[in-house]
Amino acid sequence: MHPIRIVLVGPQHPGNIGSAARAMKTMGLNQLRLVAPERYPHLDATTMAVGADDVLDAAIVLPDLAEAVADCGLVLGCTARSRYVSLPGYDPAQAARKLIDQAERTPVALVFGRERTGLSNEELQQCHGAVHIPAVAEFSSLNLAAAVQVLGYEIRLAMLDRAEVKPLLAETEAESDDQPGLHQELEQMFVHLEKTLHAIDFYKSRPSDVVMQRLRRLFLRAQPTRRELRILHGILADADRMARLARQAK
Ligand code: SAH
Repeated sequence: MHPIRIVLVGPQHPGNIGSAARAMKTMGLNQLRLVAPERYPHLDATTMAVGADDVLDAAIVLPDLAEAVADCGLVLGCTARSRYVSLPGYDPAQAARKLIDQAERTPVALVFGRERTGLSNEELQQCHGAVHIPAVAEFSSLNLAAAVQVLGYEIRLAMLDRAEVKPLLAETEAESDDQPGLHQELEQMFVHLEKTLHAIDFYKSRPSDVVMQRLRRLFLRAQPTRRELRILHGILADADRMARLARQAK
């Protein structure tokens, strides 16, 4: 299985799904994930895939983004909006290099949004970084499959540059504690963090979602390893315990 996964979130035109599959195949990519496509399977998808039916046939349909990227060690979201302030930004070449680096250790995902509205903020917040194709500012939105083609091409160039992407490391090594935590492991830590901050009354009058958004940004940028995530869970568990004791003493 190719470790670089292309995720289309909520695609509206089935033709674009087929075109994206074709764009992927020309660049050696074959792992397509479709998150809640509006119309799929559909004749238009098959028609536009011309010759990339195998990529289309192997595509997996999932209900939401979190599920599509749960086992990924790096998730980058493509956005037509150039100023996405709260995430580190990459151009396509930088994104391709980052994906290939991480793909030596874990699966990685490159995420594309809906034709009309792109990715929601909530979806972008699940990404480690945002990728923007520097199109002209007045007309910066590419067709979905064209955006897949541009990024696919950069991934291809980066791969050729580095000979071939090394196959995923042996299972045991990929599971070692010094690998960056997977998406789902990070999400578990965020759930714990949010609960603990509530238990120790950290939010006070601040809106918890704003605080969590900042903390998500910090941890996604840092890409903590599994060992580091375990330490964080340990700290949070101790804080939970202290908060409980303090409440009992009252
Ligand atoms: N009106 C939408 C555009 C969606 S285009 C918006 O404002 O976001 C469909 C998808 O193609 C986008 O969600 C994005 O993933 C990708 N895309 C289109 N143009 C892009 C660009 N210039 N840079 C990066 N991704 C782009």
